[in-house]
Amino acid sequence: TYNFCAGPAMLPAAVMEQAQKEFINWNNTGVSVMELSHRSKDYMAVATAAEQDLRDLLAIPDNYKVIFSQGGGRGQFAAVPLNILGDKNQADYLLTGQWSKSAVVEGKKYCQVNESSILMPSTYGMVAVKPASQWQVSSKDTAYVHYCPNETIEGIEINDIPETGDIPLVADMSSNILSKPLDISKFGIVYAGAQKNIGPSGLGVVIVRDDLLDKARQETPSIFNYKLMAENDSMFNTPPTYSWYLAGLVFKWLKAQGGLTAIAEINAEKAKLLYDYVDSSDFYGNNVAAGNRSKMNVPFTLASSELDTAFLQQSQEANLMALKGHRIVGGMRASIYNAMPIEGVKALIGFMEKFERAQR
Ligand code: PLP
Repeated sequence: TYNFCAGPAMLPAAVMEQAQKEFINWNNTGVSVMELSHRSKDYMAVATAAEQDLRDLLAIPDNYKVIFSQGGGRGQFAAVPLNILGDKNQADYLLTGQWSKSAVVEGKKYCQVNESSILMPSTYGMVAVKPASQWQVSSKDTAYVHYCPNETIEGIEINDIPETGDIPLVADMSSNILSKPLDISKFGIVYAGAQKNIGPSGLGVVIVRDDLLDKARQETPSIFNYKLMAENDSMFNTPPTYSWYLAGLVFKWLKAQGGLTAIAEINAEKAKLLYDYVDSSDFYGNNVAAGNRSKMNVPFTLASSELDTAFLQQSQEANLMALKGHRIVGGMRASIYNAMPIEGVKALIGFMEKFERAQR
């Protein structure tokens, strides 16, 4: 079965097999890793190795802390303003779709939000994102600029990284972190819910620059306070130990694939296969301009939405799971995160061809 779910998504098969093997008796301790004290030497080694592997994969500079947090991606919608507004009371939010809008809803609870859409119409009615050189910071009094480089629902990815000068840039990379190399030094904060390219849902990963650690509002909940969490190695309270362990296995798997440059090549190849097929057919469609098409989430429509139910039922029977598009945009969506092998994409295209032929 290939699982095209947008999240929680499939983990690499090799990771699942290893986790299964180790489930009851981890490393000959006689217990499961989830039963170890988070303060034990054994577990600390698991936690530390996971952080180091993530640092290696993303080449995270020394002046950034890595926090394994709870509350997934949305938890950070609140944690970001609480931690880094400091004495300012406004922040810029760039809009490209549903997830950047959801961040605004939360941000408004804490400050004045300066919203601006960075979408623009492109040729043939396609949707595109303005080049980063045209994005504007609203004023020097803005505390940070927030954006979402991969809109999971609409399948819009932004490859440019804007220059925001002294104003920290904050990125919600829930759905494309670890899909390609990234220059962390361009960001104040990069955060992600884990359930696409990292591990189980509920876990969040926050990469935060040191100079942003000392600004939290007094009322910030302790478990979301970056400084407190960093000082306690993300163990101020009992962390989601099993999820953290699984994330660590995923990081090791990624390293074994050759790291982010290698996985980026595979991701580009998978996405190209699928978009090329959609473009070559007049039965399927995708309305995102070529330069902004997500390599992780590929939404597509059928010639008639009346065929959606049959497509979903038959794809499920062909062991291709969870292709239903988000209810807001309709149609289909194939999420092809790191763990999706190219064979899964080929199987999907094979099914799409067959389905199309059967409608003639
Ligand atoms: N941001 C993006 C881009 C997402 O895709 C998601 C979830 O799919 C979230 C935030 C929310 O993450 P969570 O459900 O872990 O809170």
